[in-house]
Amino acid sequence: MSLSVVSHTLAPRCRTQTKAGKPCRAAATSGGLCFFHANPNKAYELGRIGGRRNRRASAAEDVDPLPKLDK
Ligand SMILES: [Zn+2]
Repeated sequence: MSLSVVSHTLAPRCRTQTKAGKPCRAAATSGGLCFFHANPNKAYELGRIGGRRNRRASAAEDVDPLPKLDK
């Protein structure tokens, strides 16, 4: 068993696949998945942000102000 020094140049890669069925080669986090596969909700949020920039027409429905606190 030779666990040679794991160089940081050989960072672990995401173990799963992209939606296109191709290996996801993004750098993996400690969980073995890349940031976006480990946090699908984050990817969704970022996607929404990107979409919001490109489609101003739908910006209104994305506005979700925090509810007022009634005291
Ligand atoms: Zn991934």
